[in-house]
Amino acid sequence: MEGGAFADDVTPCFPSLTAPGFASLWTGAPPRITGISGNRVPRLPRSQFTILESSAGFNNTLLQAEPLWASAERAGRRVVVTHVPFGGDKSDLGVHLQGYRGIAGRDGIVSGRSKPQPAQSWEDLPSSVVPPLEITFTIGSSTLYGLLIDDPSDPQKGYDTLLVTNTRSGKAVTAKLKSQPAGPGGEFFWSKPIDVKTNDGRNASAYLRLFDLKPDGTDFLLFFTRPTQEMISRPDLMRDADATSRTFIGNGANPLYSQGALGRTLPNGGDGTAEARYLETVTFAQHQLMEANRWALEHLPWELFIAYTPFPDEAEHMWRGFLEPSLPGFRQDIADRLRPLLQQVYRLSDELLGLLMAHRTEDTIVALISDHGMEGTYRLFAVNKLLRESGILAMDERGRVDLARTKAIYPAINNGYLLINSIDRKGGIVTPEQRQELVQRIRGLLLEMRDGERQVVTGVYDARVDGDTMGIGGESGGDIYIDLLPSYEVDPKFSAAELIAKRDPHGTHGFNPLRPSMRTLMVLNGPGIRPGQRLSGVRIIDFAPTLAELLRVPVPKDATGKVLHEAFSDPH
Ligand SMILES: [Zn+2]
Repeated sequence: MEGGAFADDVTPCFPSLTAPGFASLWTGAPPRITGISGNRVPRLPRSQFTILESSAGFNNTLLQAEPLWASAERAGRRVVVTHVPFGGDKSDLGVHLQGYRGIAGRDGIVSGRSKPQPAQSWEDLPSSVVPPLEITFTIGSSTLYGLLIDDPSDPQKGYDTLLVTNTRSGKAVTAKLKSQPAGPGGEFFWSKPIDVKTNDGRNASAYLRLFDLKPDGTDFLLFFTRPTQEMISRPDLMRDADATSRTFIGNGANPLYSQGALGRTLPNGGDGTAEARYLETVTFAQHQLMEANRWALEHLPWELFIAYTPFPDEAEHMWRGFLEPSLPGFRQDIADRLRPLLQQVYRLSDELLGLLMAHRTEDTIVALISDHGMEGTYRLFAVNKLLRESGILAMDERGRVDLARTKAIYPAINNGYLLINSIDRKGGIVTPEQRQELVQRIRGLLLEMRDGERQVVTGVYDARVDGDTMGIGGESGGDIYIDLLPSYEVDPKFSAAELIAKRDPHGTHGFNPLRPSMRTLMVLNGPGIRPGQRLSGVRIIDFAPTLAELLRVPVPKDATGKVLHEAFSDPH
């Protein structure tokens, strides 16, 4: 920031979610144009799909605007993209590592509940001070065998080692794991990637970590990462990279942590063990990203290098709700324990940034951006319950939405907008003539919604009226966008019991991008950038056009964002 130009109140897109955010920041166009209106989007064409159907939003084939890497390749620039949402396809000039597309299953744990048994019918049993115990477990469709032993060369007393094999043979060991509590240096106790099969039989890899093993063998905690296939557009160019660079992890074990599978969490009375384990999964995932980037930076030809990390977003989701004193139920003791952990996640992101900056040359421009902000929330507003009570949404006796009697819903994809069941959609009943009256009625209902004295819905926007100025709506966007009072979020369930309900505090984004909490940052640094320049009025859609100008390549062809000339030290 000191040596470059920066903005810290950058406006994301509406909804301020990850898939729309990345689609917009790489194309310079809002969701109305990119077609990516959420992490899942209403399924097209409208004539063939109802308002209840959706498609995954992280999908290049749905992206209707040109991203920067495509315009850069069009201009002959060599591009490397590593694990970036949407991140590119096969091309002559680009190398696209697409780990997120290769994820083929869930991470998980194996614990003492799987009841270790005396090892029987094994070949070549390894030596052990006490009789070995065996476990079996599955990752994807692979059955794996584990052998708990007391390694004669390990001074620890009792069971101290887990050997993992593909068959009941001591000669087929694919990982030798030592039990070690999570903590600094714990990443040295992770396995190399081991081969597994996905549920549909494809080759994939996963990493293992043994967080705990009782000396008597009665209990243990083995963690495995999501089985992942290699997704590299030019595998020929990465043949020499080591297995860790090629085997993507991507995320920390946040679902397992939130479910309590890593141990009781601090807010639920835990002692910090679960957080230490989660943090180590974050550290390992981040370091894998760094290894992939380091290898790519040093071995692949590039003029535009694009990297991504899902941190700190993931940890912010879990912990932000406990850090805001304004939220009811705030506990200082919990906040004091969690804040340093979140700061550690930020430090890890800083490490990745440091790696990228260490690889720049004199003529390299470094550009940093985030796709959205974060806000602590603790209350749910069940908008569909309100629509049901008002007769706008109808359910049948089996609890399904009855489209023949439904005029509008807040779809389960939870993108901050309602869909009108218009007659251009399959099963639609609302005619163009009826639309305006319906919108007026919904607007009135929503704005009247109260939680005690508080007005819950603070903004209602008709995409037909505000679509161009706000970048909302479009064929695969919403019809009516809403904004809520800070600390409230929508519960999209059709069968919620209460209009307003409490939930565990957590971090959320997706709200109106003009909210201060949703604003994000942008930093540009390097030759041609004006040092110390503070930028204002910046939107994430200005990022790609500005970079295109700096790279001297065509602005992505659907961009509506502007070139930030005020960031430049010399006229472009
Ligand atoms: Zn997020």
